[in-house]
Amino acid sequence: MSNVFSESGVEQLYLYRVPEGPLQRQHIQSRRVNLEDSPPLCLQPYYFSVDPYMRTRMQPDGYSYIERWHVGSSLSGWGLARVTASRLPGWGPGDWALGHLPMQDAIDHDGAGLIRVSGESDIPLAGLHPLGMTGFTAWLGMCRIGCPQMTDTVLVGAAAGAVGSLAAQWARRAGARVIVTAGREDKRAWLRAIGFESVLDHRAEDYAKQLQSAAPEGVSLNFESLGGRFFEIANTAMRVGGRVVLCGLVSQYQEALPRRAPRNMASLAAKRVSVLPFVAPEHDAEWGDFQRAIRPPLESNEFSWRLDVVDGGLDAIPGALMGLLSGDNLGKRVVRCH
Ligand code: NDP
Repeated sequence: MSNVFSESGVEQLYLYRVPEGPLQRQHIQSRRVNLEDSPPLCLQPYYFSVDPYMRTRMQPDGYSYIERWHVGSSLSGWGLARVTASRLPGWGPGDWALGHLPMQDAIDHDGAGLIRVSGESDIPLAGLHPLGMTGFTAWLGMCRIGCPQMTDTVLVGAAAGAVGSLAAQWARRAGARVIVTAGREDKRAWLRAIGFESVLDHRAEDYAKQLQSAAPEGVSLNFESLGGRFFEIANTAMRVGGRVVLCGLVSQYQEALPRRAPRNMASLAAKRVSVLPFVAPEHDAEWGDFQRAIRPPLESNEFSWRLDVVDGGLDAIPGALMGLLSGDNLGKRVVRCH
Protein backbone atom coordinates (compact mmCIF):
# COMPACT_ATOMS: atom_id res chain seq x y z
CA MET A 1 0.00 0.00 0.00
CA SER A 2 1.43 3.36 -0.88
CA ASN A 3 1.12 6.35 1.37
CA VAL A 4 0.83 10.01 0.55
CA PHE A 5 2.70 11.34 3.53
CA SER A 6 2.70 14.77 4.95
CA GLU A 7 4.51 15.84 8.06
CA SER A 8 1.44 15.79 10.28
CA GLY A 9 -2.01 14.31 10.52
CA VAL A 10 -3.30 10.77 10.75
CA GLU A 11 -3.48 7.91 8.28
CA GLN A 12 -6.77 7.41 6.46
CA LEU A 13 -7.90 4.77 3.95
CA TYR A 14 -9.52 5.92 0.73
CA LEU A 15 -10.69 4.48 -2.56
CA TYR A 16 -7.87 4.99 -5.03
CA ARG A 17 -9.45 3.22 -7.99
CA VAL A 18 -12.88 1.72 -8.64
CA PRO A 19 -12.46 -2.05 -9.03
CA GLU A 20 -13.86 -3.69 -12.12
CA GLY A 21 -14.08 -7.29 -10.99
CA PRO A 22 -12.31 -8.59 -7.89
CA LEU A 23 -11.03 -6.04 -5.40
CA GLN A 24 -7.25 -5.79 -5.31
CA ARG A 25 -4.97 -4.27 -2.75
CA GLN A 26 -4.04 -1.39 -5.06
CA HIS A 27 -7.68 -0.19 -5.18
CA ILE A 28 -7.47 1.04 -1.59
CA GLN A 29 -4.65 3.28 -0.47
CA SER A 30 -3.84 5.49 2.47
CA ARG A 31 -3.12 9.18 2.86
CA ARG A 32 -2.43 11.59 5.69
CA VAL A 33 -5.24 13.90 6.80
CA ASN A 34 -5.36 16.54 9.49
CA LEU A 35 -7.75 16.30 12.39
CA GLU A 36 -9.91 19.16 13.58
CA ASP A 37 -8.30 21.24 16.34
CA SER A 38 -9.88 20.40 19.66
CA PRO A 39 -12.88 18.42 18.32
CA PRO A 40 -15.85 17.51 20.56
CA LEU A 41 -14.53 13.93 20.83
CA CYS A 42 -11.23 12.25 20.03
CA LEU A 43 -11.46 8.54 19.39
CA GLN A 44 -8.87 5.83 19.20
CA PRO A 45 -10.21 2.98 17.03
CA TYR A 46 -9.59 -0.51 18.42
CA TYR A 47 -11.40 -2.67 15.85
CA PHE A 48 -12.92 -2.09 12.44
CA SER A 49 -15.53 -4.41 11.03
CA VAL A 50 -15.10 -5.43 7.39
CA ASP A 51 -18.32 -6.36 5.64
CA PRO A 52 -19.44 -7.53 2.19
CA TYR A 53 -21.53 -4.38 1.56
CA MET A 54 -18.30 -2.35 1.46
CA ARG A 55 -17.52 -3.91 -1.91
CA THR A 56 -20.95 -2.92 -3.14
CA ARG A 57 -20.31 0.70 -2.19
CA MET A 58 -17.51 0.66 -4.76
CA GLN A 59 -19.85 -0.25 -7.62
CA PRO A 60 -21.59 2.16 -9.98
CA ASP A 61 -24.85 0.41 -9.04
CA GLY A 62 -24.21 0.48 -5.28
CA TYR A 63 -27.05 0.11 -2.82
CA SER A 64 -29.14 3.23 -2.83
CA TYR A 65 -29.65 3.29 0.94
CA ILE A 66 -25.98 4.00 1.60
CA GLU A 67 -23.77 6.50 -0.14
CA ARG A 68 -21.61 5.18 -2.95
CA TRP A 69 -17.83 5.54 -2.72
CA HIS A 70 -16.13 7.37 -5.58
CA VAL A 71 -12.45 7.70 -6.40
CA GLY A 72 -10.99 9.66 -3.50
CA SER A 73 -13.79 8.84 -1.02
CA SER A 74 -12.54 8.09 2.46
CA LEU A 75 -13.53 4.60 3.63
CA SER A 76 -15.60 4.07 6.72
CA GLY A 77 -17.07 1.15 8.59
CA TRP A 78 -18.61 -0.08 11.80
CA GLY A 79 -15.97 0.27 14.48
CA LEU A 80 -15.28 0.01 18.18
CA ALA A 81 -13.29 2.92 19.55
CA ARG A 82 -12.22 4.40 22.86
CA VAL A 83 -12.61 8.03 23.81
CA THR A 84 -9.24 9.68 24.42
CA ALA A 85 -10.49 13.25 24.98
CA SER A 86 -13.94 14.79 25.24
CA ARG A 87 -15.62 18.16 25.39
CA LEU A 88 -19.05 16.52 25.13
CA PRO A 89 -21.16 16.10 28.25
CA GLY A 90 -21.74 12.42 28.94
CA TRP A 91 -18.55 11.21 27.29
CA GLY A 92 -15.23 10.90 29.05
CA PRO A 93 -11.81 9.41 28.42
CA GLY A 94 -11.88 5.62 28.55
CA ASP A 95 -15.51 5.30 27.39
CA TRP A 96 -16.19 2.79 24.61
CA ALA A 97 -18.11 3.87 21.52
CA LEU A 98 -19.53 1.95 18.59
CA GLY A 99 -20.46 3.63 15.37
CA HIS A 100 -19.90 4.12 11.69
CA LEU A 101 -16.38 5.57 11.76
CA PRO A 102 -13.87 6.82 9.20
CA MET A 103 -11.07 4.30 8.69
CA GLN A 104 -8.32 6.34 10.30
CA ASP A 105 -5.79 5.64 13.02
CA ALA A 106 -7.27 8.45 15.14
CA ILE A 107 -10.68 10.09 14.73
CA ASP A 108 -12.21 13.48 15.50
CA HIS A 109 -15.95 13.10 16.02
CA ASP A 110 -19.00 15.18 16.93
CA GLY A 111 -20.65 12.28 18.79
CA ALA A 112 -23.62 11.97 16.40
CA GLY A 113 -24.80 8.39 16.01
CA LEU A 114 -22.31 6.95 18.48
CA ILE A 115 -23.55 4.16 20.73
CA ARG A 116 -22.02 3.87 24.17
CA VAL A 117 -21.05 0.31 25.06
CA SER A 118 -19.72 -1.22 28.19
CA GLY A 119 -18.72 -4.75 28.80
CA GLU A 120 -18.10 -7.36 31.36
CA SER A 121 -14.71 -7.91 29.75
CA ASP A 122 -12.08 -5.19 29.21
CA ILE A 123 -13.01 -4.63 25.58
CA PRO A 124 -16.74 -4.94 24.81
CA LEU A 125 -16.26 -7.09 21.72
CA ALA A 126 -19.85 -8.31 21.51
CA GLY A 127 -20.76 -4.88 20.14
CA LEU A 128 -18.87 -5.75 16.98
CA HIS A 129 -21.09 -8.72 16.22
CA PRO A 130 -23.96 -10.25 18.21
CA LEU A 131 -24.95 -6.94 19.83
CA GLY A 132 -24.02 -4.91 16.75
CA MET A 133 -24.97 -4.57 13.08
CA THR A 134 -24.53 -8.21 12.07
CA GLY A 135 -26.51 -9.37 15.09
CA PHE A 136 -29.22 -6.84 14.27
CA THR A 137 -29.33 -7.99 10.63
CA ALA A 138 -29.69 -11.65 11.63
CA TRP A 139 -32.48 -10.95 14.13
CA LEU A 140 -34.30 -8.56 11.83
CA GLY A 141 -34.12 -10.82 8.79
CA MET A 142 -35.04 -14.00 10.58
CA CYS A 143 -37.35 -12.91 13.41
CA ARG A 144 -39.08 -9.87 11.92
CA ILE A 145 -39.08 -10.68 8.19
CA GLY A 146 -38.88 -14.48 7.93
CA CYS A 147 -40.76 -15.31 11.17
CA PRO A 148 -39.93 -19.03 11.28
CA GLN A 149 -42.49 -21.43 12.77
CA MET A 150 -42.05 -24.95 14.13
CA THR A 151 -43.44 -26.32 10.89
CA ASP A 152 -40.78 -24.60 8.76
CA THR A 153 -37.75 -26.12 7.09
CA VAL A 154 -35.29 -23.21 7.00
CA LEU A 155 -32.20 -22.97 4.79
CA VAL A 156 -29.39 -20.63 5.89
CA GLY A 157 -26.41 -20.22 3.56
CA ALA A 158 -22.95 -19.01 4.64
CA ALA A 159 -23.98 -20.09 8.14
CA ALA A 160 -20.45 -20.04 9.55
CA GLY A 161 -20.29 -16.34 8.73
CA ALA A 162 -21.49 -13.45 10.85
CA VAL A 163 -25.13 -12.94 9.88
CA GLY A 164 -25.79 -16.56 8.87
CA SER A 165 -24.57 -18.08 12.13
CA LEU A 166 -26.94 -15.97 14.23
CA ALA A 167 -29.83 -16.17 11.77
CA ALA A 168 -29.62 -19.97 11.88
CA GLN A 169 -29.64 -19.95 15.68
CA TRP A 170 -32.73 -17.73 15.76
CA ALA A 171 -34.52 -20.16 13.43
CA ARG A 172 -33.54 -23.10 15.63
CA ARG A 173 -34.74 -21.22 18.71
CA ALA A 174 -38.14 -20.81 17.02
CA GLY A 175 -38.34 -24.61 16.77
CA ALA A 176 -37.90 -24.83 13.00
CA ARG A 177 -35.90 -27.55 11.27
CA VAL A 178 -32.70 -25.79 10.13
CA ILE A 179 -30.39 -26.73 7.28
CA VAL A 180 -27.13 -24.77 7.25
CA THR A 181 -24.41 -24.51 4.60
CA ALA A 182 -20.75 -23.52 4.60
CA GLY A 183 -18.04 -23.70 1.97
CA ARG A 184 -15.17 -25.21 4.01
CA GLU A 185 -14.82 -28.24 6.25
CA ASP A 186 -13.59 -26.36 9.36
CA LYS A 187 -16.63 -24.10 9.04
CA ARG A 188 -18.95 -27.10 8.81
CA ALA A 189 -17.20 -28.72 11.79
CA TRP A 190 -17.90 -25.58 13.85
CA LEU A 191 -21.55 -25.63 12.81
CA ARG A 192 -21.83 -29.27 13.90
CA ALA A 193 -20.05 -28.42 17.15
CA ILE A 194 -22.66 -25.78 17.97
CA GLY A 195 -25.44 -28.28 17.44
CA PHE A 196 -26.56 -28.17 13.80
CA GLU A 197 -27.14 -31.63 12.37
CA SER A 198 -27.94 -30.84 8.78
CA VAL A 199 -24.77 -29.16 7.50
CA LEU A 200 -24.18 -28.94 3.74
CA ASP A 201 -21.35 -27.75 1.49
CA HIS A 202 -22.79 -25.12 -0.86
CA ARG A 203 -19.52 -24.96 -2.81
CA ALA A 204 -19.63 -28.67 -3.68
CA GLU A 205 -20.55 -29.71 -7.23
CA ASP A 206 -23.36 -31.86 -5.86
CA TYR A 207 -24.85 -29.17 -3.60
CA ALA A 208 -28.26 -29.44 -5.30
CA LYS A 209 -28.30 -33.17 -4.59
CA GLN A 210 -27.22 -32.61 -0.97
CA LEU A 211 -30.06 -30.16 -0.49
CA GLN A 212 -32.60 -32.46 -2.10
CA SER A 213 -31.64 -35.29 0.29
CA ALA A 214 -31.57 -32.99 3.33
CA ALA A 215 -35.02 -31.57 2.52
CA PRO A 216 -36.98 -34.07 0.42
CA GLU A 217 -40.14 -32.22 1.51
CA GLY A 218 -38.66 -28.92 0.28
CA VAL A 219 -37.50 -25.72 1.95
CA SER A 220 -40.24 -23.43 3.23
CA LEU A 221 -38.00 -20.50 4.29
CA ASN A 222 -34.74 -19.60 2.56
CA PHE A 223 -32.57 -16.97 4.26
CA GLU A 224 -30.65 -15.95 1.13
CA SER A 225 -27.20 -14.40 1.47
CA LEU A 226 -25.25 -16.02 -1.36
CA GLY A 227 -26.97 -15.24 -4.66
CA GLY A 228 -25.96 -16.62 -8.09
CA ARG A 229 -25.81 -20.40 -8.49
CA PHE A 230 -26.56 -20.94 -4.79
CA PHE A 231 -29.79 -18.92 -4.99
CA GLU A 232 -30.84 -20.88 -8.08
CA ILE A 233 -30.35 -24.18 -6.28
CA ALA A 234 -32.34 -22.94 -3.29
CA ASN A 235 -35.15 -21.77 -5.58
CA THR A 236 -35.41 -25.25 -7.06
CA ALA A 237 -35.84 -26.67 -3.55
CA MET A 238 -38.61 -24.24 -2.46
CA ARG A 239 -41.98 -25.53 -1.35
CA VAL A 240 -45.22 -24.09 -2.72
CA GLY A 241 -46.11 -21.03 -0.65
CA GLY A 242 -42.61 -20.68 0.79
CA ARG A 243 -40.74 -17.47 1.46
CA VAL A 244 -37.31 -16.12 0.69
CA VAL A 245 -35.74 -13.55 3.01
CA LEU A 246 -33.47 -11.63 0.64
CA CYS A 247 -30.58 -10.67 2.90
CA GLY A 248 -27.70 -10.45 0.40
CA LEU A 249 -26.07 -11.87 -2.73
CA VAL A 250 -22.43 -12.00 -1.70
CA SER A 251 -21.24 -14.28 -4.52
CA GLN A 252 -22.16 -11.52 -6.98
CA TYR A 253 -20.45 -8.53 -5.35
CA GLN A 254 -17.13 -9.11 -7.12
CA GLU A 255 -18.62 -9.94 -10.49
CA ALA A 256 -18.24 -7.52 -13.34
CA LEU A 257 -21.54 -5.92 -14.27
CA PRO A 258 -24.16 -7.04 -15.12
CA ARG A 259 -24.29 -9.53 -12.27
CA ARG A 260 -26.02 -12.82 -12.66
CA ALA A 261 -29.61 -13.01 -11.49
CA PRO A 262 -31.07 -16.43 -10.72
CA ARG A 263 -32.30 -17.82 -14.02
CA ASN A 264 -35.19 -19.63 -12.41
CA MET A 265 -37.05 -16.74 -10.76
CA ALA A 266 -40.14 -17.87 -12.72
CA SER A 267 -40.24 -21.01 -10.61
CA LEU A 268 -40.80 -18.84 -7.54
CA ALA A 269 -43.84 -17.31 -9.20
CA ALA A 270 -45.13 -20.74 -10.16
CA LYS A 271 -44.76 -21.87 -6.54
CA ARG A 272 -46.23 -18.63 -5.09
CA VAL A 273 -43.04 -18.03 -3.10
CA SER A 274 -42.83 -14.60 -1.45
CA VAL A 275 -39.51 -12.77 -1.81
CA LEU A 276 -38.94 -10.49 1.17
CA PRO A 277 -36.03 -8.06 0.80
CA PHE A 278 -34.78 -5.91 3.66
CA VAL A 279 -31.89 -3.57 4.49
CA ALA A 280 -31.01 -3.24 8.15
CA PRO A 281 -30.32 0.54 8.29
CA GLU A 282 -33.93 1.21 7.33
CA HIS A 283 -35.09 -0.47 10.55
CA ASP A 284 -33.26 1.69 13.09
CA ALA A 285 -36.47 2.05 15.09
CA GLU A 286 -36.28 -1.67 15.93
CA TRP A 287 -32.81 -1.46 17.48
CA GLY A 288 -34.19 -1.32 21.06
CA ASP A 289 -36.39 -4.40 20.50
CA PHE A 290 -33.37 -6.20 19.10
CA GLN A 291 -31.22 -5.36 22.12
CA ARG A 292 -33.93 -6.74 24.43
CA ALA A 293 -34.39 -9.89 22.33
CA ILE A 294 -30.71 -10.82 21.97
CA ARG A 295 -29.73 -10.55 25.66
CA PRO A 296 -31.37 -13.77 26.97
CA PRO A 297 -29.89 -16.23 24.42
CA LEU A 298 -26.52 -14.48 24.61
CA GLU A 299 -26.32 -14.28 28.37
CA SER A 300 -27.42 -17.91 28.82
CA ASN A 301 -24.82 -18.99 26.22
CA GLU A 302 -27.58 -20.56 24.16
CA PHE A 303 -26.16 -18.65 21.18
CA SER A 304 -22.59 -19.21 20.02
CA TRP A 305 -20.63 -16.58 18.16
CA ARG A 306 -17.07 -15.99 17.15
CA LEU A 307 -14.91 -13.21 15.81
CA ASP A 308 -12.39 -13.77 13.06
CA VAL A 309 -9.71 -11.27 14.05
CA VAL A 310 -7.14 -10.07 11.53
CA ASP A 311 -4.20 -8.20 13.01
CA GLY A 312 -2.30 -5.41 11.35
CA GLY A 313 -4.32 -2.22 11.73
CA LEU A 314 -5.46 -0.08 8.82
CA ASP A 315 -2.96 -1.63 6.42
CA ALA A 316 -4.59 -5.04 6.92
CA ILE A 317 -8.11 -3.86 6.02
CA PRO A 318 -7.92 -4.21 2.20
CA GLY A 319 -6.61 -7.79 2.45
CA ALA A 320 -9.14 -8.66 5.14
CA LEU A 321 -11.97 -7.45 2.89
CA MET A 322 -10.60 -9.28 -0.15
CA GLY A 323 -10.42 -12.48 1.90
CA LEU A 324 -13.96 -12.05 3.24
CA LEU A 325 -15.26 -11.78 -0.32
CA SER A 326 -13.75 -15.12 -1.18
CA GLY A 327 -14.76 -16.81 2.07
CA ASP A 328 -11.62 -17.09 4.18
CA ASN A 329 -13.35 -15.94 7.39
CA LEU A 330 -14.91 -18.15 10.05
CA GLY A 331 -17.23 -15.95 12.11
CA LYS A 332 -17.42 -12.17 12.07
CA ARG A 333 -14.37 -10.67 10.45
CA VAL A 334 -12.84 -7.67 12.19
CA VAL A 335 -9.45 -5.98 11.98
CA ARG A 336 -7.61 -5.15 15.20
CA CYS A 337 -6.16 -1.65 15.07
CA HIS A 338 -4.73 -1.24 18.54
P1 NDP B 1 -19.99 -13.43 6.26
O1 NDP B 1 -19.33 -13.41 7.59
O2 NDP B 1 -21.09 -14.44 6.04
O3 NDP B 1 -18.86 -13.63 5.17
C1 NDP B 1 -19.20 -13.82 3.85
C2 NDP B 1 -19.31 -15.34 3.53
O4 NDP B 1 -19.93 -15.47 2.29
C3 NDP B 1 -17.95 -16.01 3.37
O5 NDP B 1 -17.41 -16.48 4.59
C4 NDP B 1 -18.27 -17.16 2.44
O6 NDP B 1 -18.78 -18.27 3.16
C5 NDP B 1 -19.39 -16.58 1.58
N1 NDP B 1 -18.84 -16.07 0.32
C6 NDP B 1 -18.05 -15.01 0.13
N2 NDP B 1 -17.76 -14.88 -1.17
C7 NDP B 1 -18.40 -15.86 -1.80
C8 NDP B 1 -18.48 -16.24 -3.17
N3 NDP B 1 -17.87 -15.55 -4.13
N4 NDP B 1 -19.21 -17.32 -3.47
C9 NDP B 1 -19.83 -18.02 -2.48
N5 NDP B 1 -19.79 -17.70 -1.18
C10 NDP B 1 -19.08 -16.63 -0.86
O7 NDP B 1 -20.54 -11.99 5.91
P2 NDP B 1 -21.78 -11.25 6.58
O8 NDP B 1 -22.39 -12.12 7.59
O9 NDP B 1 -21.34 -9.89 6.98
O10 NDP B 1 -22.80 -11.08 5.37
C11 NDP B 1 -23.56 -12.19 4.92
C12 NDP B 1 -24.59 -11.70 3.92
O11 NDP B 1 -25.49 -10.81 4.57
C13 NDP B 1 -24.02 -10.93 2.72
O12 NDP B 1 -24.75 -11.28 1.57
C14 NDP B 1 -24.29 -9.49 3.08
O13 NDP B 1 -24.34 -8.64 1.98
C15 NDP B 1 -25.62 -9.63 3.78
N6 NDP B 1 -25.96 -8.51 4.66
C16 NDP B 1 -27.18 -7.91 4.47
C17 NDP B 1 -27.59 -6.89 5.25
C18 NDP B 1 -28.93 -6.30 5.03
O14 NDP B 1 -29.25 -5.29 5.66
N7 NDP B 1 -29.78 -6.89 4.18
C19 NDP B 1 -26.71 -6.34 6.30
C20 NDP B 1 -25.48 -7.10 6.50
C21 NDP B 1 -25.12 -8.14 5.68
P3 NDP B 1 -18.42 -19.78 2.68
O15 NDP B 1 -16.95 -19.97 2.86
O16 NDP B 1 -19.22 -20.60 3.61
O17 NDP B 1 -18.81 -19.89 1.25
